[in-house]
Amino acid sequence: MKYVGAHVSASGGVENAPLNAAAIGARAFALFTKNQRQWQAKPLTTKSIDAFRANLEQSGIRPGHVLPHDSYLINLGHPEPEALAKSRAAFLDEMRRCGQLGLKLLNFHPGAHLGKIDEEACLARIAESVNLALEQTEGVTAVIENTAGQGTVLGWRFEHLAAIIDRVEDKSRVGVCLDTAHTFGAGYDLRTAAACAETFSEFDAVVGFRYLRGMHLNDSKAALGSRVDRHHSLGKGLIGLEAFRTIMRDPRFEEIPLVLETIDETLWPEEIRMLYGMQSGQGGE
Ligand SMILES: [Zn+2]
Ligand SMILES: [Zn+2]
Repeated sequence: MKYVGAHVSASGGVENAPLNAAAIGARAFALFTKNQRQWQAKPLTTKSIDAFRANLEQSGIRPGHVLPHDSYLINLGHPEPEALAKSRAAFLDEMRRCGQLGLKLLNFHPGAHLGKIDEEACLARIAESVNLALEQTEGVTAVIENTAGQGTVLGWRFEHLAAIIDRVEDKSRVGVCLDTAHTFGAGYDLRTAAACAETFSEFDAVVGFRYLRGMHLNDSKAALGSRVDRHHSLGKGLIGLEAFRTIMRDPRFEEIPLVLETIDETLWPEEIRMLYGMQSGQGGE
């Protein structure tokens, strides 16, 4: 079974996210549990937590199909001690918020070396950040999102993801989210069924599908290997629909949240319907 949804708004309170997901026909969704552009957030209130849980139950969406996304400010591989400590504290807070909401996953961007430390040192720092967060929490898996590799950001090579996982002590609570636009921007082709087969077999060999906890389904405005992160609506970018058809027909992508982060949210209901239709060979044109 496939579980498709989108990164929905939590404005007005996290409890609104399940309602927003249900309204677009989603069986999975992503959300920010706090403002993604600010460091500080008020703790979740009991009222908000209870309402979130009730609305999630009512939506029929399972907690394991919700893929919260962490703040864009967090850099778990930061080269400077003070900034690293600030990021680690914020990440721990986000892990705890997910736990309070009864959720199982937290998707994060691995981090950037800012040209101040080498890649290896940065990857080790990211893994240590994950270890610290896992030690202090229970039940929530840290899900590393692959990146397009803009600037000094790591996590664009599958080898980076494997190097982080390798250093994480509790392998049962670390996973990966592949973003199709980031994958393509990083230089892994997805434009044909054959290209997808090659890219996903490389992913399996380097990281392993057993670590795949979610996908972000996005087309890309940025070219293959451009190392640029620019999402587009499905079928309107440079990846094209074949990648999404391939994913929807591949059993390796079952049982995990498949989340749209495409740029025109008015198209989400249509994109979700199209993706489900692709499973049976209808739609998608
Ligand atoms: Zn992301
Ligand atoms: Zn993404």
